[in-house]
Amino acid sequence: MTTNPSLNPTQAARVPQKPRKVFRRIKVTRVKQLTPHMVRVTFTGDDLAAFAWNGPAAHIKLIFPEDGQSEPSMPDPDGPRPTRIRTYTPRRFDPSAPELDVEFVLHGVGPASNWAAQAQEGQVLVVGGPGRNYEIDRSADWILLVGDDTAIPAISTILEALPATMKAYVILEVSDALEERELNSPAQVDITWLHRGSAQPDIILEQALRNFQLPAGDGRVYVGAEASVMRRMRQYLLKDLGLDASRIITRGYWKVGDTNYPDHDYGTD
Ligand SMILES: Cc1cc2nc3c(=O)[nH]c(=O)nc-3n(C[C@H](O)[C@H](O)[C@H](O)COP(=O)(O)OP(=O)(O)OC[C@H]3O[C@@H](n4cnc5c(N)ncnc54)[C@H](O)[C@@H]3O)c2cc1C
Repeated sequence: MTTNPSLNPTQAARVPQKPRKVFRRIKVTRVKQLTPHMVRVTFTGDDLAAFAWNGPAAHIKLIFPEDGQSEPSMPDPDGPRPTRIRTYTPRRFDPSAPELDVEFVLHGVGPASNWAAQAQEGQVLVVGGPGRNYEIDRSADWILLVGDDTAIPAISTILEALPATMKAYVILEVSDALEERELNSPAQVDITWLHRGSAQPDIILEQALRNFQLPAGDGRVYVGAEASVMRRMRQYLLKDLGLDASRIITRGYWKVGDTNYPDHDYGTD
């Protein structure tokens, strides 16, 4: 164990230790191709029942095998950080099975996308988390959910957790009509699918947000998108529309050109 050399042993004993992340070995039980570019992988695991599902739009860390490994090593808390670690959304968790679903966008370039494209029953990953989730304000009149393909799992978990009294407006950008899918919610949902085609990611998503007429009443907004576009959308919501920051959550889910984008980019810098 490492100690802070500037503290004497009594002081060091009083310094609160950051809780260590729990990592679990999970095994693929099912793989389902949802659309041409989205695959759902169902995992189970000996100690997965203890996974503490904490609500919608949370995140997990998945560790993928390095070249030559049949399964990833468990991370050593005192060792180097694994390189093939990526952030995903726990899409569905059933503690009785136990089963955890994760939905992967096959964007085609990184280790996570590559792994998902070949996922098969019996393969093993390591999962850590879950991390911070989205708190639904059940007293709000409406919610606006804006995202690209990577945010569809998170937005799906939010939609499923909404009260029936709420009105949900959903704007989603996918590559083409084949990526559209059914989303379930007890709320009254008004969904708009946007097709990116050959346009730069999330540009038409930003345009659709700018064209959206905010309804009357008390609303909330959740945005999950490419980090640079997310920042512009956040500024639009705050400065042009004058929304209070407490009413909006914006998350960068990935960034053009960056690998392993961090899990804590809320665009608040
Ligand atoms: C809180 C949170 C939750 C997330 N949940 C999900 C989820 O449930 N499902 C999901 O599919 N993704 C999700 N993501 C996004 C995912 O973490 C990133 O897409 C990640 O980069 C994928 O890792 P990779 O190894 O495939 O690519 P990386 O090695 O990280 O990146 C390789 C290259 O691919 C580019 N790239 C990454 N993502 C995309 C993309 N979507 N489209 C085009 N190019 C891309 C990068 O810019 C980079 O140039 C989430 C991200 C966050 C922060």
